Amino acid sequence: MDKKIRTAAIVLAAGSGKRMESNVKKQYMLIHEKPVIYYALKAFQESFIDEIVLVVSPGDIAYCQKEIVEQYDFNKVQCIVEGGKERYHSVAAGLKQITDCDYVFIHDGARPMLTEEILNRALAEVKVHGACVVGMPVKDTVKIADEKGNIAFTPDRRLVWAIQTPQVFDFPLIKEAYQKLMLEEERLRKKGISVTDDAMVVETLMGHSVRLVQGSYENIKITTPEDLSVAENFLKDTGEGG
Ligand code: C5P
Repeated sequence: MDKKIRTAAIVLAAGSGKRMESNVKKQYMLIHEKPVIYYALKAFQESFIDEIVLVVSPGDIAYCQKEIVEQYDFNKVQCIVEGGKERYHSVAAGLKQITDCDYVFIHDGARPMLTEEILNRALAEVKVHGACVVGMPVKDTVKIADEKGNIAFTPDRRLVWAIQTPQVFDFPLIKEAYQKLMLEEERLRKKGISVTDDAMVVETLMGHSVRLVQGSYENIKITTPEDLSVAENFLKDTGEGG
């Protein structure tokens, strides 16, 4: 008989949210009276995921334990750990907490519109390809600019996707990728490469291809103030809001 597949989620909430122009960090701002981070945790809590590692800023651990994990009874949260300066430092901190698992789902805590359908699609793909990321084909034409602010070229729109999370990987693959990243961090920095997602780490350092999976146009990241009202509207349709 097949061994039961074990899955873990790393939920990232250690960002400072500078683009939100607010004193309250975006992950704790309220949508329908619940903090932004509640929604992603709820999606994982109610899914097939076995364990959740929550990564937060230094100083926020006690608050998250009491006001979020205990308050909403998220009993799949195995631990809350401190993140780091860049997103990839926070991912590395989360990965250190995971020991026994087959697939890891890495998710931005600032994306409250995660659904069971997205999680199921990503699980099906990672089982086949070992690495996949959720995203959507872009609707707008995308231009690549040069340093002077002029258009350098226009990629074929049919091949351009906007990448979201979760990004999902075989556990040994992502673990090794991040171990390599930590050793090569300085070299990449000197080359001017900034690591903004996990797929990049796996592609660049492991030479492993990463499959694209359809997320949804609603799976937005709360980044600027107007995103809050957009998410509030989307969540109303799911029955979360008043
Ligand atoms: O900064 P950005 O919007 O790309 O962040 C995406 C997600 O990563 C957010 O949920 C944020 O809280 C998290 N993050 C983190 N640690 C950092 C930077 C961002 O956990 N150092």
